Amino acid sequence: MRAWAVVEAGKPLEAITLPTPEPEGTEILVEVTHCGVCHSDLHFWKGEYNMGNGRVMKLSERGVELPRAPGHEIVGRVAGIGPDATGVELGDLRIVYPWIGCGQCVACLSEQDNMCSQQQSLGVVRNGGFASHVLVPHSRYLVDPGDIDPAIAATFACSGITTYSAIGKIMPIAPDRPVVLIGAGGVGLMAIAMLRALGHRNILSVDIAADKRAAAEAAGARAVDGGSASLAASIIEAAGGPVTAVLDFVNKDATARGAVDALAKGGTLVSVGVAGGELSISLAGLVFRVTTIRGSNTGSIQDLRDVVRLANTGRLAPTPVTMRPAHEANQALIDLKEGRVTGRQVLVAPHSPIG
Ligand SMILES: [Zn+2]
Ligand SMILES: [Zn+2]
Repeated sequence: MRAWAVVEAGKPLEAITLPTPEPEGTEILVEVTHCGVCHSDLHFWKGEYNMGNGRVMKLSERGVELPRAPGHEIVGRVAGIGPDATGVELGDLRIVYPWIGCGQCVACLSEQDNMCSQQQSLGVVRNGGFASHVLVPHSRYLVDPGDIDPAIAATFACSGITTYSAIGKIMPIAPDRPVVLIGAGGVGLMAIAMLRALGHRNILSVDIAADKRAAAEAAGARAVDGGSASLAASIIEAAGGPVTAVLDFVNKDATARGAVDALAKGGTLVSVGVAGGELSISLAGLVFRVTTIRGSNTGSIQDLRDVVRLANTGRLAPTPVTMRPAHEANQALIDLKEGRVTGRQVLVAPHSPIG
């Protein structure tokens, strides 16, 4: 198989040839047709996460070995079926759930692989979708996209379920109460579409970039300039008062500070981005203001099924997608890193009828 792999952290991806895996047991081999390009792929490429205050988490210390193909927003066709696998047939088009766990723990046995502490995620610990093929341990990790355009469906595997899972943590909320979304990149735009599909009518989208704010407005949110001196004041003014729900898809020091300071009593901040920020909070303030601050990381297999079902109702507006041939994987990462991307880039395999 072909793979556009990280061979050395931070160096250009290289096109390499690897043995095409033979599915054993319950494994399924999927021939990749589409793969979204996510900010997490940039972290994988760099080989580390900024954990805030100068601390760095090295992926090499987390079981990641190179060379490895990134990419975790994968759609493809079933190209090989292990002898014990059931539920799919050769040629079936499927979304691949990439956040695969150990398969043994309580989280995995309840299909909450994203909560497993021994994750074997595709595009991180295993080769991902920047390749011609990907090996999946079991057919339960495959979801039928139904009538959804496969380029859009691919984005559900990360930005879709990340958004859906994060929104679930602020629900229930009345449709006319403001929900504040910080960051109008791929995930932020997906969140606008998702909230609208769920019937929400009061969405504020914060970004420092004018083009991203324009994209947020086009998607149906009210845009707030995140570049002002006081982010909290800008949010409170735009919302007409302190807010009960903020989703921070960036998570720098300034965005987290602004988010917490804009919260109403009883409000919830869901932290989703991994930009390396830190937050200092008054614990007495946390008590008196009855504030909830919680993290959210990807989503479960059921979340993926729920997003696909929501999309198949026709209510989930597709987020902007730019399709690029798979061999442009390296340039796609550079363009994302340099902020030249609005919405989502999706790599398309050369043999795909859509490519
Ligand atoms: Zn991702
Ligand atoms: Zn597990």
